[in-house]
Amino acid sequence: MKAIVISVGDELLTGRTLNTNLKTIAEFLGRYGIEILRDCTVRDNQEEIVKSIKEALKDADVVIVTGGLGITVDDVTREAVAKGAGVKLIFDEKLYKEIEKKMIERGVNITEIHKNYGLVPKGFELIKNDFGLAPGYWGNLNGKILFVLPGPPHELRNVLENAAEKFSNLSPVNILVKTVKTFGLKESDIVEILKDDIKFLTPIGFYPIVPGMVDLKLTLKGEDTEKLQEEMKKKIDILKERLGDAIYGYDGDTLQSVIGKMLREKGLTIATSESCTGGLVANLITDVPGSSDYFKGGVVSYWNEVKHNVLGVSEVILRHFGAVSEPVAIMMAEGVRNLLNTDVGLSTTGIAGPTGGTPEKPVGLVYMGVSIRGNTTVIERIFKGDRLMVKKQAALTVLNLVRLKLEEI
Ligand code: AMP
Ligand code: MG
Repeated sequence: MKAIVISVGDELLTGRTLNTNLKTIAEFLGRYGIEILRDCTVRDNQEEIVKSIKEALKDADVVIVTGGLGITVDDVTREAVAKGAGVKLIFDEKLYKEIEKKMIERGVNITEIHKNYGLVPKGFELIKNDFGLAPGYWGNLNGKILFVLPGPPHELRNVLENAAEKFSNLSPVNILVKTVKTFGLKESDIVEILKDDIKFLTPIGFYPIVPGMVDLKLTLKGEDTEKLQEEMKKKIDILKERLGDAIYGYDGDTLQSVIGKMLREKGLTIATSESCTGGLVANLITDVPGSSDYFKGGVVSYWNEVKHNVLGVSEVILRHFGAVSEPVAIMMAEGVRNLLNTDVGLSTTGIAGPTGGTPEKPVGLVYMGVSIRGNTTVIERIFKGDRLMVKKQAALTVLNLVRLKLEEI
């Protein structure tokens, strides 16, 4: 099955909004083995949308239109879909009443224009939107399926999930997808390590997230689910054998969710002391629901004064080695562990750039420390990229170091 996605919105073509809906839709369709032939992004222009829908209906089995379902003047998708599909818009009284109820609950000042929410292309079936006012809908046009979905990303995700059954009915093949997540190896290293297995592992996708962080996506298609699962297990076993502890998780796992799980299982607590990452590590750790079980707190110790006064880093060491140095990273990790009375303390200190580098200490140089009970480890890296990339890589690398150290105890 082939699909074409039509993303509607001026904001997508002026650089104001990144088309994240395409990613959501692509991942969703992947589950059902539906391949996207192309994506086409158009402005909030009725003629353009109609033209794209007509063209897409010729080329694909499934056409998905997203965006422009509101009722402001720039929202013209509803009418364009009707024109593209060659049907009339009809007013669905029952739908409108439901939306009216939601609007009253939300305190919307209802006007004549809100009636547009009740318009549905003739012959189309509604798909529930639990988060917004505009529902999605879908129609079968002589065997071609046209889905129309709202633009706000969280509503789009919800409506897609609400249409899941329809999608699974479209495609008879089962798809099994597993993502194996790695940290510490470059994409080229992985390709080299797997070179003798690549034939067996294919189809395998390599997706670098940041340098040294690569997702491997395995896809299997077939009729027999059990057989697919068996084959997937064999492939994953090979990856485990070859890549060892570079694998930190699978599918929805993140470094922070994985260390969260480890800390909880071991009954340990953690605290952060961050210089160049400015709190990013604490932010990542607290992205995980329930992180208050193990994350006590953190110190953003940007100034030396704070490193000394709050974390107890020695002034002599700061002066002698400089703030970006191994001994300071050690004292920060140990300092915050003592200060907040946790089992684990971590630290980052480095030069995020673009200024502040010297020949001895270039931009991108970062020291990251982990102190677990009495044992402290520091690693040194020189990250490439702009300021935000350096911060991100440093934050992820220190989380990975925590993971590796927790595995040892
Ligand atoms: P719309 O349905 O076109 O009125 O869009 C409502 C909101 O969803 C706006 O904030 C848009 O920027 C956002 N939005 C629409 N389409 C997309 C898309 N393809 N990716 C991400 N955000 C989107
Ligand atoms: Mg719009």
